[in-house]
Amino acid sequence: MTSDNSNQDSRSVVRRQEPPASVTRPLVSPLSPSVVFRAEDADALDAVYEGRAAGYSYAREGHPNASLLADKLAWMEGLDPENGESGVMTASGMAAVSAVLLGLLKSGDHIVAGNQLYGRCLRLLTQDLPRLGFEASLVDASDAAAVAAALRPETKLLLVEVVANPTLRVADVKGLATLARARGLIFVVDNTFTTPRGFQPFAHGADVVVHSVTKLLAGHSDAMLGFVAAKDPAQQQQITEAVVTWGLNASPFDCWLAERGLNTFDLRFERAQANAKALADHLRGLAGVKRVLYPGEDDHPDRDLARDLLQGNYSHMVSFELETGRAGVNRFLRAAGNIAFAPTLGDVATTISHAASSSHRALSEPERLALGISEGFIRVSVGIEDIELLKREFTAAVAAVAQPGA
Ligand SMILES: *Cc1c(COP(=O)(O)O)cnc(C)c1O
Repeated sequence: MTSDNSNQDSRSVVRRQEPPASVTRPLVSPLSPSVVFRAEDADALDAVYEGRAAGYSYAREGHPNASLLADKLAWMEGLDPENGESGVMTASGMAAVSAVLLGLLKSGDHIVAGNQLYGRCLRLLTQDLPRLGFEASLVDASDAAAVAAALRPETKLLLVEVVANPTLRVADVKGLATLARARGLIFVVDNTFTTPRGFQPFAHGADVVVHSVTKLLAGHSDAMLGFVAAKDPAQQQQITEAVVTWGLNASPFDCWLAERGLNTFDLRFERAQANAKALADHLRGLAGVKRVLYPGEDDHPDRDLARDLLQGNYSHMVSFELETGRAGVNRFLRAAGNIAFAPTLGDVATTISHAASSSHRALSEPERLALGISEGFIRVSVGIEDIELLKREFTAAVAAVAQPGA
Protein backbone atom coordinates (compact mmCIF):
# COMPACT_ATOMS: atom_id res chain seq x y z
CA MET A 1 0.00 0.00 0.00
CA THR A 2 1.51 3.36 -0.98
CA SER A 3 0.82 6.79 0.39
CA ASP A 4 -0.64 7.65 -3.03
CA ASN A 5 -3.27 4.97 -2.57
CA SER A 6 -4.22 6.19 0.86
CA ASN A 7 -4.50 9.75 -0.47
CA GLN A 8 -6.93 8.61 -3.16
CA ASP A 9 -9.36 6.45 -1.23
CA SER A 10 -8.86 7.62 2.39
CA ARG A 11 -7.91 4.12 3.61
CA SER A 12 -4.90 3.72 5.88
CA VAL A 13 -3.32 0.74 7.58
CA VAL A 14 -3.23 2.70 10.83
CA ARG A 15 -7.01 3.14 10.85
CA ARG A 16 -8.78 0.32 12.66
CA GLN A 17 -11.43 -1.70 10.87
CA GLU A 18 -14.56 -3.21 12.36
CA PRO A 19 -14.32 -7.00 12.89
CA PRO A 20 -15.59 -8.99 9.88
CA ALA A 21 -19.37 -9.38 9.74
CA SER A 22 -20.56 -12.71 11.12
CA VAL A 23 -23.95 -14.24 11.95
CA THR A 24 -22.11 -16.60 14.32
CA ARG A 25 -20.48 -15.63 17.60
CA PRO A 26 -17.31 -16.96 19.20
CA LEU A 27 -17.87 -19.73 21.75
CA VAL A 28 -15.02 -18.43 23.92
CA SER A 29 -15.02 -14.97 25.48
CA PRO A 30 -12.93 -12.74 23.21
CA LEU A 31 -9.80 -11.18 24.66
CA SER A 32 -10.24 -7.43 24.42
CA PRO A 33 -6.90 -5.68 24.98
CA SER A 34 -8.20 -2.29 23.85
CA VAL A 35 -7.19 0.48 26.24
CA VAL A 36 -9.85 2.77 24.88
CA PHE A 37 -13.36 2.53 23.47
CA ARG A 38 -14.76 4.81 20.77
CA ALA A 39 -18.22 6.32 20.85
CA GLU A 40 -20.49 7.46 18.01
CA ASP A 41 -20.75 11.00 19.33
CA ALA A 42 -20.52 13.08 22.51
CA ASP A 43 -24.08 12.20 23.59
CA ALA A 44 -23.27 8.48 23.39
CA LEU A 45 -20.17 9.00 25.55
CA ASP A 46 -22.20 11.03 28.04
CA ALA A 47 -24.69 8.17 28.28
CA VAL A 48 -21.88 5.70 29.08
CA TYR A 49 -20.32 7.99 31.70
CA GLU A 50 -23.71 8.60 33.32
CA GLY A 51 -24.56 4.90 33.37
CA ARG A 52 -27.62 5.34 31.10
CA ALA A 53 -26.07 3.10 28.44
CA ALA A 54 -23.86 0.03 28.76
CA GLY A 55 -20.32 0.56 27.59
CA TYR A 56 -16.73 1.35 28.37
CA SER A 57 -14.58 4.39 27.82
CA TYR A 58 -11.05 3.83 29.11
CA ALA A 59 -9.72 0.47 30.32
CA ARG A 60 -8.47 1.73 33.70
CA GLU A 61 -12.15 2.41 34.45
CA GLY A 62 -13.27 -1.02 33.27
CA HIS A 63 -13.14 -3.36 30.30
CA PRO A 64 -15.12 -6.39 29.06
CA ASN A 65 -12.72 -9.08 30.35
CA ALA A 66 -12.73 -7.59 33.85
CA SER A 67 -16.55 -7.30 33.88
CA LEU A 68 -17.05 -10.90 32.74
CA LEU A 69 -14.68 -12.26 35.38
CA ALA A 70 -15.92 -10.00 38.19
CA ASP A 71 -19.52 -11.10 37.51
CA LYS A 72 -18.54 -14.79 37.64
CA LEU A 73 -16.63 -14.34 40.90
CA ALA A 74 -19.46 -12.28 42.41
CA TRP A 75 -21.89 -15.04 41.49
CA MET A 76 -19.59 -17.65 43.11
CA GLU A 77 -19.65 -15.51 46.26
CA GLY A 78 -23.45 -15.61 46.33
CA LEU A 79 -24.14 -12.15 44.83
CA ASP A 80 -26.54 -11.51 41.97
CA PRO A 81 -24.68 -9.84 39.07
CA GLU A 82 -27.86 -9.76 36.96
CA ASN A 83 -29.23 -7.31 39.49
CA GLY A 84 -26.11 -5.21 39.51
CA GLU A 85 -24.40 -6.92 42.47
CA SER A 86 -20.82 -7.38 41.37
CA GLY A 87 -17.28 -6.55 42.35
CA VAL A 88 -14.13 -5.14 40.80
CA MET A 89 -11.02 -6.85 39.44
CA THR A 90 -7.64 -5.53 40.56
CA ALA A 91 -4.04 -6.03 39.43
CA SER A 92 -3.24 -8.38 42.35
CA GLY A 93 -4.56 -9.55 45.68
CA MET A 94 -2.51 -6.81 47.34
CA ALA A 95 -4.16 -4.24 45.03
CA ALA A 96 -7.53 -5.61 46.19
CA VAL A 97 -6.65 -5.14 49.87
CA SER A 98 -5.20 -1.70 49.13
CA ALA A 99 -8.35 -0.65 47.25
CA VAL A 100 -10.54 -1.58 50.22
CA LEU A 101 -8.44 0.45 52.66
CA LEU A 102 -7.92 3.42 50.32
CA GLY A 103 -11.56 3.46 49.28
CA LEU A 104 -13.24 3.11 52.68
CA LEU A 105 -10.93 4.73 55.23
CA LYS A 106 -9.52 8.14 55.98
CA SER A 107 -6.47 9.24 57.88
CA GLY A 108 -6.96 8.78 61.63
CA ASP A 109 -9.03 5.61 61.25
CA HIS A 110 -7.94 2.51 63.15
CA ILE A 111 -7.93 -1.02 61.75
CA VAL A 112 -8.00 -4.28 63.69
CA ALA A 113 -6.62 -7.24 61.75
CA GLY A 114 -5.62 -10.86 62.22
CA ASN A 115 -2.03 -11.33 63.35
CA GLN A 116 -1.44 -14.15 60.87
CA LEU A 117 -2.39 -12.40 57.64
CA TYR A 118 -0.53 -12.84 54.37
CA GLY A 119 2.98 -11.40 54.91
CA ARG A 120 2.61 -8.37 52.63
CA CYS A 121 -0.72 -7.47 54.26
CA LEU A 122 1.02 -7.41 57.61
CA ARG A 123 3.67 -5.12 56.15
CA LEU A 124 1.03 -2.85 54.60
CA LEU A 125 -0.76 -2.54 57.94
CA THR A 126 2.27 -2.11 60.17
CA GLN A 127 4.72 -0.18 58.00
CA ASP A 128 3.04 1.57 55.08
CA LEU A 129 -0.36 2.64 56.42
CA PRO A 130 1.03 4.35 59.55
CA ARG A 131 2.99 6.60 57.16
CA LEU A 132 -0.39 7.69 55.70
CA GLY A 133 -2.01 8.26 59.09
CA PHE A 134 -3.82 4.95 59.59
CA GLU A 135 -3.16 2.79 62.61
CA ALA A 136 -3.55 -0.98 62.86
CA SER A 137 -3.64 -3.45 65.76
CA LEU A 138 -2.94 -7.12 65.09
CA VAL A 139 -4.74 -9.77 67.14
CA ASP A 140 -5.56 -13.47 67.16
CA ALA A 141 -8.63 -13.66 64.89
CA SER A 142 -9.63 -17.05 66.35
CA ASP A 143 -10.41 -15.23 69.60
CA ALA A 144 -13.35 -12.79 69.29
CA ALA A 145 -12.78 -11.56 72.86
CA ALA A 146 -9.19 -10.58 71.99
CA VAL A 147 -10.48 -8.76 68.92
CA ALA A 148 -13.12 -6.95 71.00
CA ALA A 149 -10.42 -5.89 73.47
CA ALA A 150 -8.37 -4.32 70.65
CA LEU A 151 -11.23 -2.07 69.44
CA ARG A 152 -10.98 1.69 69.96
CA PRO A 153 -13.52 4.45 69.42
CA GLU A 154 -11.82 5.24 66.09
CA THR A 155 -11.75 1.62 64.86
CA LYS A 156 -13.48 1.48 61.46
CA LEU A 157 -12.54 -1.79 59.89
CA LEU A 158 -11.84 -5.41 60.81
CA LEU A 159 -9.76 -7.50 58.37
CA VAL A 160 -9.24 -11.26 58.68
CA GLU A 161 -8.40 -14.32 56.61
CA VAL A 162 -10.76 -17.26 57.17
CA VAL A 163 -7.86 -19.70 57.23
CA ALA A 164 -4.56 -18.00 57.98
CA ASN A 165 -1.13 -18.44 56.49
CA PRO A 166 0.84 -20.63 57.21
CA THR A 167 -0.47 -22.13 60.45
CA LEU A 168 -3.98 -22.64 59.04
CA ARG A 169 -5.55 -21.10 62.14
CA VAL A 170 -9.26 -20.42 61.61
CA ALA A 171 -10.90 -17.05 62.34
CA ASP A 172 -14.03 -16.94 64.47
CA VAL A 173 -15.94 -15.44 61.56
CA LYS A 174 -19.38 -15.71 63.18
CA GLY A 175 -18.22 -14.15 66.46
CA LEU A 176 -16.39 -11.40 64.58
CA ALA A 177 -19.42 -10.68 62.38
CA THR A 178 -21.56 -10.22 65.49
CA LEU A 179 -18.95 -7.94 67.00
CA ALA A 180 -18.59 -5.92 63.78
CA ARG A 181 -22.35 -5.43 63.54
CA ALA A 182 -22.64 -4.35 67.19
CA ARG A 183 -19.75 -1.88 66.88
CA GLY A 184 -20.53 -0.56 63.37
CA LEU A 185 -17.28 -1.87 61.87
CA ILE A 186 -16.74 -2.75 58.21
CA PHE A 187 -15.98 -6.49 58.29
CA VAL A 188 -13.55 -7.48 55.51
CA VAL A 189 -12.80 -11.14 54.85
CA ASP A 190 -9.91 -12.40 52.71
CA ASN A 191 -11.34 -15.65 51.32
CA THR A 192 -8.28 -16.69 49.29
CA PHE A 193 -7.33 -19.93 51.10
CA THR A 194 -10.90 -21.16 51.49
CA THR A 195 -12.27 -19.99 48.11
CA PRO A 196 -16.03 -19.48 47.54
CA ARG A 197 -16.29 -23.25 47.14
CA GLY A 198 -15.23 -23.78 50.75
CA PHE A 199 -16.74 -20.73 52.45
CA GLN A 200 -19.09 -17.87 51.64
CA PRO A 201 -18.25 -14.86 53.82
CA PHE A 202 -21.34 -12.82 52.83
CA ALA A 203 -23.60 -15.55 54.21
CA HIS A 204 -21.72 -15.22 57.52
CA GLY A 205 -21.94 -11.46 57.97
CA ALA A 206 -18.98 -10.12 55.95
CA ASP A 207 -19.39 -6.66 54.40
CA VAL A 208 -16.51 -6.97 51.96
CA VAL A 209 -14.86 -10.06 50.43
CA VAL A 210 -11.33 -9.97 49.02
CA HIS A 211 -9.48 -12.55 46.94
CA SER A 212 -6.05 -13.08 45.55
CA VAL A 213 -7.36 -14.59 42.30
CA THR A 214 -3.71 -15.36 41.51
CA LYS A 215 -4.01 -18.49 43.64
CA LEU A 216 -6.47 -21.39 43.36
CA LEU A 217 -9.19 -19.47 41.50
CA ALA A 218 -7.01 -18.77 38.45
CA GLY A 219 -5.04 -21.87 39.38
CA HIS A 220 -2.17 -22.01 36.89
CA SER A 221 0.38 -19.50 38.24
CA ASP A 222 0.20 -17.46 35.04
CA ALA A 223 -2.22 -14.66 35.95
CA MET A 224 -1.86 -12.13 38.76
CA LEU A 225 -5.19 -10.66 39.89
CA GLY A 226 -7.32 -9.64 42.83
CA PHE A 227 -11.05 -9.25 43.35
CA VAL A 228 -13.12 -7.18 45.78
CA ALA A 229 -16.86 -7.23 46.31
CA ALA A 230 -18.83 -5.22 48.85
CA LYS A 231 -22.39 -5.97 49.86
CA ASP A 232 -23.32 -2.28 50.13
CA PRO A 233 -23.46 -0.56 46.69
CA ALA A 234 -22.13 2.73 48.12
CA GLN A 235 -19.08 0.94 49.57
CA GLN A 236 -18.58 -0.95 46.30
CA GLN A 237 -18.64 2.37 44.47
CA GLN A 238 -15.99 3.85 46.80
CA ILE A 239 -13.75 0.80 46.34
CA THR A 240 -14.17 0.83 42.56
CA GLU A 241 -13.33 4.54 42.48
CA ALA A 242 -10.16 3.81 44.46
CA VAL A 243 -9.18 1.15 41.90
CA VAL A 244 -9.68 3.60 39.03
CA THR A 245 -8.02 6.58 40.72
CA TRP A 246 -5.02 4.83 42.27
CA GLY A 247 -4.51 2.75 39.11
CA LEU A 248 -5.04 -0.66 40.72
CA ASN A 249 -6.90 -2.05 37.69
CA ALA A 250 -6.46 -5.53 36.20
CA SER A 251 -5.04 -6.43 32.80
CA PRO A 252 -7.44 -7.87 30.19
CA PHE A 253 -5.13 -10.78 29.41
CA ASP A 254 -4.87 -11.85 33.04
CA CYS A 255 -8.67 -11.61 33.39
CA TRP A 256 -9.08 -13.69 30.24
CA LEU A 257 -6.69 -16.37 31.55
CA ALA A 258 -8.37 -16.45 34.96
CA GLU A 259 -11.83 -16.76 33.43
CA ARG A 260 -10.55 -19.71 31.40
CA GLY A 261 -9.10 -21.17 34.60
CA LEU A 262 -12.45 -20.89 36.36
CA ASN A 263 -13.93 -23.44 33.95
CA THR A 264 -12.05 -26.16 35.82
CA PHE A 265 -12.12 -24.57 39.26
CA ASP A 266 -14.63 -26.95 40.83
CA LEU A 267 -12.75 -30.00 39.56
CA ARG A 268 -9.39 -28.63 40.70
CA PHE A 269 -10.76 -27.72 44.11
CA GLU A 270 -12.29 -31.17 44.70
CA ARG A 271 -9.16 -33.01 43.63
CA ALA A 272 -6.71 -30.75 45.49
CA GLN A 273 -8.83 -30.93 48.65
CA ALA A 274 -9.06 -34.74 48.53
CA ASN A 275 -5.28 -34.89 47.97
CA ALA A 276 -4.65 -32.49 50.87
CA LYS A 277 -6.67 -34.62 53.29
CA ALA A 278 -4.91 -37.80 52.13
CA LEU A 279 -1.48 -36.16 52.32
CA ALA A 280 -2.16 -34.86 55.84
CA ASP A 281 -3.07 -38.40 56.96
CA HIS A 282 0.00 -39.81 55.24
CA LEU A 283 2.40 -37.26 56.79
CA ARG A 284 1.08 -38.07 60.25
CA GLY A 285 2.40 -41.60 59.89
CA LEU A 286 5.98 -40.62 58.92
CA ALA A 287 8.84 -40.71 61.44
CA GLY A 288 10.45 -37.26 61.79
CA VAL A 289 7.16 -35.36 61.33
CA LYS A 290 6.39 -33.63 64.63
CA ARG A 291 2.88 -32.35 63.86
CA VAL A 292 0.56 -31.91 60.91
CA LEU A 293 -1.91 -29.04 60.54
CA TYR A 294 -5.07 -29.47 58.49
CA PRO A 295 -8.23 -27.63 59.57
CA GLY A 296 -10.99 -29.86 60.88
CA GLU A 297 -8.70 -32.71 61.93
CA ASP A 298 -8.90 -33.84 65.57
CA ASP A 299 -5.50 -32.37 66.51
CA HIS A 300 -6.03 -28.93 64.89
CA PRO A 301 -6.17 -26.09 67.47
CA ASP A 302 -9.30 -24.57 65.84
CA ARG A 303 -10.96 -27.86 64.99
CA ASP A 304 -14.41 -26.85 66.24
CA LEU A 305 -14.39 -23.48 64.48
CA ALA A 306 -13.19 -25.15 61.28
CA ARG A 307 -15.90 -27.80 61.38
CA ASP A 308 -18.62 -25.27 62.09
CA LEU A 309 -17.58 -22.80 59.38
CA LEU A 310 -16.18 -24.98 56.64
CA GLN A 311 -18.48 -28.02 56.87
CA GLY A 312 -15.84 -30.45 55.64
CA ASN A 313 -14.32 -28.15 52.99
CA TYR A 314 -10.88 -27.71 54.52
CA SER A 315 -9.35 -26.83 51.12
CA HIS A 316 -5.94 -27.57 49.67
CA MET A 317 -3.38 -26.28 52.19
CA VAL A 318 -1.50 -28.56 54.62
CA SER A 319 1.29 -27.50 56.96
CA PHE A 320 3.59 -29.71 58.98
CA GLU A 321 6.60 -29.46 61.20
CA LEU A 322 9.78 -31.47 60.76
CA GLU A 323 11.79 -32.31 63.85
CA THR A 324 14.88 -30.58 62.53
CA GLY A 325 16.65 -27.27 61.94
CA ARG A 326 17.78 -25.54 58.74
CA ALA A 327 20.18 -28.28 57.59
CA GLY A 328 17.46 -30.93 57.77
CA VAL A 329 14.97 -28.61 56.04
CA ASN A 330 17.46 -28.13 53.21
CA ARG A 331 17.89 -31.92 52.90
CA PHE A 332 14.09 -32.25 52.78
CA LEU A 333 13.75 -29.57 50.07
CA ARG A 334 16.54 -31.03 47.93
CA ALA A 335 15.10 -34.55 48.23
CA ALA A 336 11.64 -33.23 47.29
CA GLY A 337 13.23 -31.67 44.20
CA ASN A 338 10.42 -32.65 41.82
CA ILE A 339 7.98 -30.63 43.91
CA ALA A 340 8.66 -26.95 43.36
CA PHE A 341 9.95 -25.03 46.38
CA ALA A 342 8.23 -21.78 45.46
CA PRO A 343 6.61 -19.03 47.53
CA THR A 344 3.09 -19.29 46.14
CA LEU A 345 -0.02 -21.45 46.46
CA GLY A 346 -2.98 -22.62 44.46
CA ASP A 347 -1.09 -23.92 41.43
CA VAL A 348 -2.30 -27.08 39.66
CA ALA A 349 0.96 -28.69 40.80
CA THR A 350 1.97 -29.08 44.43
CA THR A 351 4.33 -26.43 45.77
CA ILE A 352 6.20 -26.24 49.07
CA SER A 353 7.07 -23.12 50.99
CA HIS A 354 9.17 -22.49 54.07
CA ALA A 355 7.78 -19.63 56.14
CA ALA A 356 10.94 -18.91 58.15
CA SER A 357 12.96 -18.10 55.00
CA SER A 358 10.20 -16.49 52.92
CA SER A 359 6.78 -15.19 54.03
CA HIS A 360 7.80 -14.70 57.68
CA ARG A 361 11.47 -13.82 57.27
CA ALA A 362 10.83 -10.24 58.42
CA LEU A 363 9.88 -11.51 61.90
CA SER A 364 12.44 -12.28 64.59
CA GLU A 365 12.80 -15.90 65.66
CA PRO A 366 10.91 -15.36 68.95
CA GLU A 367 8.08 -13.65 67.01
CA ARG A 368 7.92 -16.58 64.61
CA LEU A 369 7.96 -19.13 67.42
CA ALA A 370 5.13 -17.26 69.15
CA LEU A 371 3.05 -17.91 66.02
CA GLY A 372 4.12 -21.57 66.04
CA ILE A 373 6.48 -21.25 63.07
CA SER A 374 9.73 -23.07 63.77
CA GLU A 375 12.62 -23.56 61.35
CA GLY A 376 11.19 -27.00 60.49
CA PHE A 377 7.76 -25.58 59.58
CA ILE A 378 6.73 -26.48 56.00
CA ARG A 379 3.59 -25.35 54.17
CA VAL A 380 2.27 -27.38 51.27
CA SER A 381 -0.13 -26.12 48.60
CA VAL A 382 -1.44 -29.44 47.42
CA GLY A 383 -2.03 -29.81 43.69
CA ILE A 384 -4.03 -32.18 41.54
CA GLU A 385 -1.35 -34.82 40.87
CA ASP A 386 -1.88 -38.51 41.51
CA ILE A 387 -1.93 -38.85 45.31
CA GLU A 388 0.27 -41.98 45.19
CA LEU A 389 3.02 -39.95 43.52
CA LEU A 390 2.76 -37.29 46.24
CA LYS A 391 2.90 -39.88 49.03
CA ARG A 392 6.04 -41.47 47.53
CA GLU A 393 7.75 -38.10 47.11
CA PHE A 394 6.95 -36.89 50.63
CA THR A 395 7.97 -40.24 52.16
CA ALA A 396 11.37 -40.03 50.45
CA ALA A 397 11.89 -36.33 51.28
CA VAL A 398 11.00 -36.76 54.97
CA ALA A 399 13.33 -39.79 55.16
CA ALA A 400 16.17 -37.66 53.74
CA VAL A 401 15.99 -35.28 56.73
CA ALA A 402 17.62 -37.94 58.94
CA GLN A 403 20.36 -38.72 56.39
CA PRO A 404 23.16 -36.16 56.77
CA GLY A 405 25.22 -36.04 53.61
CA ALA A 406 22.12 -36.50 51.45
C1 LIG B 1 -1.31 -14.18 47.86
C2 LIG B 1 -2.23 -13.62 48.84
C3 LIG B 1 -2.51 -12.25 48.87
C4 LIG B 1 -1.86 -11.29 47.91
O1 LIG B 1 -2.21 -11.60 46.59
P1 LIG B 1 -1.28 -11.26 45.33
O2 LIG B 1 -2.14 -11.66 44.18
O3 LIG B 1 -0.02 -12.04 45.48
O4 LIG B 1 -1.03 -9.79 45.39
C5 LIG B 1 -3.40 -11.78 49.81
N1 LIG B 1 -3.99 -12.61 50.70
C6 LIG B 1 -3.73 -13.93 50.71
C7 LIG B 1 -4.40 -14.80 51.71
C8 LIG B 1 -2.84 -14.48 49.77
O5 LIG B 1 -2.59 -15.80 49.79
